[in-house]
Amino acid sequence: MKEAVLEILRHHRGTFISGQELSERLGITRTAVWKHIKTLQQEGYRIEAQPRRGYCLQEVPDFLYPEELRAGLSTSCIGRNIVHYHEVGSTNTVAKQLAERGEREGTVVIAEKQTEGRGRLGRRWESPYGKGIWLSIILRPRVATDAAPSITLLAAVAVAKAIKNFCGLEALIKWPNDILVRGKKVCGILTEMKADMDVVEYVVVGIGLNANLEVQDFPEEIRDKATSLRILLNKKISRVNLVRKLFGEFESLYNLFREHGFSPIRSMWKEMNTTLGQQVQVNTLTSVYSGLAVDITEDGGLVVETKEGTKVFYGGEVSLRKHLN
Ligand code: ADP
Repeated sequence: MKEAVLEILRHHRGTFISGQELSERLGITRTAVWKHIKTLQQEGYRIEAQPRRGYCLQEVPDFLYPEELRAGLSTSCIGRNIVHYHEVGSTNTVAKQLAERGEREGTVVIAEKQTEGRGRLGRRWESPYGKGIWLSIILRPRVATDAAPSITLLAAVAVAKAIKNFCGLEALIKWPNDILVRGKKVCGILTEMKADMDVVEYVVVGIGLNANLEVQDFPEEIRDKATSLRILLNKKISRVNLVRKLFGEFESLYNLFREHGFSPIRSMWKEMNTTLGQQVQVNTLTSVYSGLAVDITEDGGLVVETKEGTKVFYGGEVSLRKHLN
């Protein structure tokens, strides 16, 4: 009902609508209307209330509220159900808990701040309040576990496309999970999965996108390798609009994946990557390999020509040799 009140106010944005009219249109009492208005004001909506004239929505808060994201959202699955936190440990952790309890595909957990945002291998992901896009998407693809790495690549293509189409910046993908603009990381992706035998039960795709962070929001030690859309564009962007765009791109690619498998996504990935054709060094947990990155496989593995022969990697740390030293 709160969302319905907001919907009408949004429709009349900048003009007054009386409490009487709201209560009649929604079939609730004027006191109930007033209570919803109070809640909205507490959430940061600037709503002017005047005795006789009624209510007027003047400003919406810069938060990734479900009501904001859903207004004007074109998807039918991704982001239709959103759980929002001002502060959370890690959105991936919450999303996994929800998935365990049977939460449906397309559900998104989103937070203004993560206190324990994670990268791969338990590394810390900086997620300051109100500045970034820290979200996790629950998926239930009906695929075998070996198709799971391709979901990370799918997510990377979705983010790169959203950045390109929304900001006009050239976003490139560094295998497997980083999005770079002008050689610096603007986004990281962390995919986690649960499988039953060889079949995927759910996948949680965590996306950490540096939208409106400023230089001082990054710890000093990562300032030379991390950046944000705000820094790149020299202006603040609308996180709400970008997230809607991201959901749209993600859903199109996910539908394509379900219908035709990874192959069409693989072609797009190859068009947007910065890893193939480069001398790379791959650090697995047990060894370090050097060689030329030549391709990705039909299931998202990185093919590298090393001195020991051709090797395929599904994880591990990749450094582009030209960025070394
Ligand atoms: P990679 O795949 O590049 O090895 P991860 O995906 O594991 O890295 O992400 C964690 C690393 O990313 C951290 O160790 C840190 O160097 C860097 N990092 C942490 N927070 C951010 C951020 N908000 N933006 C860009 N890079 C970050």
